[in-house]
Amino acid sequence: MRRRWAALALALLLVAWGFAERRMLVIQAFALQDPPGLLAPSEEGPGARWVDDYFTVERLDERTYAIGEPRYAQQNFSYLILGSQRAVLFDAGPGIRDIRPVAESLTDLPITFLPSHFHYDHLGPAATFARVAVVDLPGLRARAPDGELALTRAEHLGFVEDVPTPTLKVTEWLEPGAVLALGERDLLVLYTPRHTEDSISLVDVASGLVFSGDFLYPGPLYAFLPNSSMGDYLEGANAVVAAAPGSARVLGAHRVKPPGAPVLDLQDVHDLQATLESIRAGTISGEGVYPVTYPVNERVTLLAEPRWLQRW
Ligand SMILES: [Zn+2]
Repeated sequence: MRRRWAALALALLLVAWGFAERRMLVIQAFALQDPPGLLAPSEEGPGARWVDDYFTVERLDERTYAIGEPRYAQQNFSYLILGSQRAVLFDAGPGIRDIRPVAESLTDLPITFLPSHFHYDHLGPAATFARVAVVDLPGLRARAPDGELALTRAEHLGFVEDVPTPTLKVTEWLEPGAVLALGERDLLVLYTPRHTEDSISLVDVASGLVFSGDFLYPGPLYAFLPNSSMGDYLEGANAVVAAAPGSARVLGAHRVKPPGAPVLDLQDVHDLQATLESIRAGTISGEGVYPVTYPVNERVTLLAEPRWLQRW
């Protein structure tokens, strides 16, 4: 009898693993570890200044700042992008400390917070911004008829570091492909899933800048989370290559080591594109069991599910 129960339990576990919640189970396992402590302050080079003992500010050009959190384990970077009429803060870090006063100290323009996606380490003090813009996907809009967008556990993943799941008060919806006009500066809102379903990048064609969020940064890219998809990841890479000038600098949301903001270039997007095509064709194999690590180039790797579980 006991054997029968054990077999039944095992069967149920396999069913759970094989269907919808497989990826959540993996992430739940991450959540069993203690939240990481702060790293020691790092040497950030002459281009960056420490604002206190936690944030760094780096002026990338006259109208673009990188605000770094080098002491946070995931080493997040958010970007303050200025026009003549308004400014956008693209991502806001994990919220261990409040990024808002740092951004407000750099400009008098009204600041709109725009997350690259909804993971907890990009939303910071999202609830405290008066202006919040979000990508206009039908599924999201339907959930927020009055602008109040309650995020789900699977979209936010805050349980990994004990961050409560927030509700965003959305004041502006940005269609994929729309141009966000900041006044004498235009940002193309590019839909670049599928680190998550809602991931966007921003392209400033005139300045030759791509703000890529978690779609691309130096280090391991996560393409095995709930809502990830390899096929859509490739579509995103194709979209960036089509929209960005060949000389573009690509500014990501994380780095693995100092100094300074995580800067890549369009060749890295081409390399990601080629790697995804090779994985789909089965002509390269990765290392490890779960996730599987595929090399993109010497700066970037791609973490994916084993080939038989990948979504294309
Ligand atoms: Zn993310």
